[in-house]
Amino acid sequence: MFAVTAELRDRFGRKHDYLRVSVTDRCNLRCVYCMGPEGVPPLQHSDILSYEEILAVVKAGAELGMKSVRLTGGEPLVRKGIEDLVKKIALIPSITDLSMTTNGQLLAEMVLALKRAGLQRVNISLDTLDPQLFREITRCGDLEKTLEGIRAALDYGLNPVKINVVLMKGVNEQEIDAFVKLVCEYPLQLRFIEYMPLDAHDRKWKEKYLPLEVVKEKIKARGYVLEPCAQNSGFGPAEIYQSPHLQGTIGFIHPVSRHFCESCNRFRLTADGFIKPCLYWQEELSVKPFLHDGRGLKEVLQKALEYKRQRHTMGLNLGDDGEIIKARGMSKIGG
Ligand code: SAM
Ligand code: SF4
Repeated sequence: MFAVTAELRDRFGRKHDYLRVSVTDRCNLRCVYCMGPEGVPPLQHSDILSYEEILAVVKAGAELGMKSVRLTGGEPLVRKGIEDLVKKIALIPSITDLSMTTNGQLLAEMVLALKRAGLQRVNISLDTLDPQLFREITRCGDLEKTLEGIRAALDYGLNPVKINVVLMKGVNEQEIDAFVKLVCEYPLQLRFIEYMPLDAHDRKWKEKYLPLEVVKEKIKARGYVLEPCAQNSGFGPAEIYQSPHLQGTIGFIHPVSRHFCESCNRFRLTADGFIKPCLYWQEELSVKPFLHDGRGLKEVLQKALEYKRQRHTMGLNLGDDGEIIKARGMSKIGG
């Protein structure tokens, strides 16, 4: 019998009701800000949590008041049978928000099955609208496939469809206008995201980092009046704006220049079964010892609360070469 029995609140008073689940470390792209050209050494199949094991962790979280689940990766759509996991999570009564972050390369062919399985909304990563630059940033991707995925997500009623754009100086900053134009044409929630120093592969992070305040001013200088949306309170880290010319909205996520740790409400589950209390810090707790009978999973989540720190210090302790080397890069955490 399923029942919500408690809540997860850390010592800073932050309630945790959001679990981000990385279902695989594998990916069909090699984005320059996420991994090196050779990719990441893949985990052994036996190290990866099965869908039943992921479901057990999600259920334990749900009993502790988790309401939102996001499936991510690596690339979640490369894991076989992902729609079965979506279906099972969607059946948990207290999970009222089920979403996915994807690069969109396989979305057009899978969106109907995902929607039918109960996926409600999707974030699609897209850093440029130029086919050649897309290939350069992703090292192997096909822009048209991601655009088809976006169109399919809109057509099949995933709502909202959010577009994640990681902006990098000297790489895709010239694309800002093209993205704003896209939101004039389609009801998308565009989100510009600051490039984060989370992996050792890009020692040039500092040179490419672009604070988003500059971007906001550029958009305003083009004549767009940006009015804050009501959503701004309580709906995650983005600062969101609407404008009379836009069908959708424009958001700014400033994890580096303006951390939003005071409203942190999330845990991450890695593909190999670790709860990460924070994207940045290295502490993590394995759920594996508790999977054989499911007992103790709630205690692991509660224990993870004790590891929550007040804030991250991303970008603050940089040497000349870039950020200190992290144990896990983005593709291993899930964003
Ligand atoms: N493969 C999926 C995708 O790309 O959407 C999901 C996993 S990906 C790690 C999740 C998100 O993290 C993506 O939106 C990606 O752009 C973002 N990301 C990866 N590395 C990043 C970095 N160094 N700084 C900012 N965002 C990053
Ligand atoms: Fe793959 Fe997503 Fe990382 Fe790009 S950002 S390499 S699509 S996991």
